Amino acid sequence: MKAVYIREHGGREVLTYGDMPDPVIGPNDVKVRVRACAVNRVDIFTRLGVRGTRLGLDQPHILGGDAAGDVVEVGSEVTRIRVRDRVVINPKLTCSQCHYCIAGQHELCISPSMLGSTTNGSYAELVKAPAVNAVRLPDSLSYEYAAALPTVFLPSWNILIRSAQLKSWETALILSASSGVGTAAIQLAKNVVGARVITTTSTDEKARMARELGADEVIVYSREDIEQRVKELTEGRGVNVVLDHVGEGFWPAASRSLAPGGRYGICGVTTGYKADLQMGLMFLRNQTVFGVFMGRKEDLRQIVDLAGKRVIKSVIHRVFPLRDAAKAHEVMESQQSFGKLILRP
Ligand SMILES: [Zn+2]
Repeated sequence: MKAVYIREHGGREVLTYGDMPDPVIGPNDVKVRVRACAVNRVDIFTRLGVRGTRLGLDQPHILGGDAAGDVVEVGSEVTRIRVRDRVVINPKLTCSQCHYCIAGQHELCISPSMLGSTTNGSYAELVKAPAVNAVRLPDSLSYEYAAALPTVFLPSWNILIRSAQLKSWETALILSASSGVGTAAIQLAKNVVGARVITTTSTDEKARMARELGADEVIVYSREDIEQRVKELTEGRGVNVVLDHVGEGFWPAASRSLAPGGRYGICGVTTGYKADLQMGLMFLRNQTVFGVFMGRKEDLRQIVDLAGKRVIKSVIHRVFPLRDAAKAHEVMESQQSFGKLILRP
């Protein structure tokens, strides 16, 4: 099969389009003909070998987590998924045996791994995954829209819906509207919860797109002070929930924007991972700071269902042929995009 793989960590030049052996499935796996896969920030970190993603690389390694396509083979123990099913793959791999997995708390699995980070991924014509990670797609959902869902909607869902339990009468601050996570979180907070949404972005053009997506207020941080604007927009109260996937660069302003009783969820640290935490303010204001990594298997089923009903949708910036994965990485690194970048084998 054709695939995009790396033999060493490094810049975009280490991405190689070429032949790799077809994946061989185990009794509980499915093999999927990939019709679309999404580019995520973690793919770039894995390519570079930074943020804990360094690999031995004694074999070529295929990048990519999110994928949607057609099931072409199922393992001997698989009963729920059939050949020819259209599916999206949840890239968070869990053991299915530890007490957390048995309790359905997959995000706490004691031996997790990630498709494309620790195992061969979806930048390929074929990918294998455990059958329990495949979610069947409604006819209304295209492969491209489906492939763009898991890595951005799962952590957003985990933070906003389950962990912070955002309410319709509350206000959420979603940092960085133009990223995949930003576009997902704005829609969940607005279309699923019905909360008031304040978001941040760098340009007026991106601000316009964020409003189109449902944001009530957009702070253009290149010329506006986030903390000051949040104060004005909330009449000094602050926001009830912050969804932060950018980390260090925005923590000072965002954490000071949190209302008493506020919940601050972190699912990424793209600008850096260290922060000064004002512990005194935290207990005086009864605030919670928490992290999430992806979500539960059942979350993706609910996300797919809502996407099929068009309550939420993937925001796709551009679709590239698989062989142009390096160009897609370049666009993501340039931070000029609004929404997801998709590769099509
Ligand atoms: Zn487990």
